[in-house]
Amino acid sequence: MAAYLYPISLAALSGLMVVLERFFPWRPEQKQLRPKLWSDVIYLVFNGHFLGLLLAGLASTWILPHVDRWLAVEGMTDSVYRNAAMDWPLWAQIIVALLVLDFIQWCVHNLLHRVPFLWELHKTHHSVKDDEMDWIVAFRFSWLEVVVYKSILYLPMVFFGFRWEALMFHAIFGTLIGHLNHANLNLGHGPWRYILNSPRMHIWHHDYAGTAKTTVNYGIIFSSWDWIFGTAKMPPDPPAQLGFAGVETFPDSFFSQEAWPLEKLWPRMQSKLVWSLVGALVLAAAWYLREPRGDPPETPMLGEVSAASQPHHTCPS
Ligand SMILES: [Zn+2]
Ligand SMILES: [Zn+2]
Repeated sequence: MAAYLYPISLAALSGLMVVLERFFPWRPEQKQLRPKLWSDVIYLVFNGHFLGLLLAGLASTWILPHVDRWLAVEGMTDSVYRNAAMDWPLWAQIIVALLVLDFIQWCVHNLLHRVPFLWELHKTHHSVKDDEMDWIVAFRFSWLEVVVYKSILYLPMVFFGFRWEALMFHAIFGTLIGHLNHANLNLGHGPWRYILNSPRMHIWHHDYAGTAKTTVNYGIIFSSWDWIFGTAKMPPDPPAQLGFAGVETFPDSFFSQEAWPLEKLWPRMQSKLVWSLVGALVLAAAWYLREPRGDPPETPMLGEVSAASQPHHTCPS
């Protein structure tokens, strides 16, 4: 059941948005069946929170046992707070995961707009034009952005021992708010606007006139970060135009959008990536050749413990 929980929730929340947009559209002239709809359906399937949950599963099964062994050898298991959250009650894990993950996303989202080469990755999400802003564009993101985001978000959580239920809650609740943020619905959440993000806030994040310095509303789930740090804006009406300066020449199809960051970045990043790889290889070689520090203290197996703890009997003969 756990494996199906996210796909079932994603399908149910998506169906709910279709019904809400059908009966309560904010911009009634906007069509639900529109050009590029299928391209956004592919994004939805590829970019849902599947990758994050998959990464979390792979990390706990394949990566963390090696990390744990290494930490034990170095005597660092306690000092890096491995499994620090493991004993917390589930409700505490859920609240902390929501707040911490969302604040990290708010910070990364700022960087995506302010650092030029990261902005190239993020342009895919801002390629949404006036007649396309609906719930389904919530997952229109470059695959590179998704890989980086999910690794930053979910791997540390698994490291600190958060339960899968807490990560699943974040994935499902994040999907609900992400869908709503982009939906064609006139929702501002009244007094809750200072806590929760909304369609009326997020549409201003997609303002065509926004630049690296003037873009507003970076929040994903919570709007509080934007109100606290002075990047919030919430007029009653949507902006005059959506997109970004240059969206007219940005690739239109799913495959060309997915290739865009590599086409754009590879010529600029080539030498840096090669030197980073050489550096990583040198570090790995130095690590391999370092002075051995001995094996970690042996933990007796269950059977050995009970055998060792038994009084020693000699066979009467
Ligand atoms: Zn953005
Ligand atoms: Zn958006």
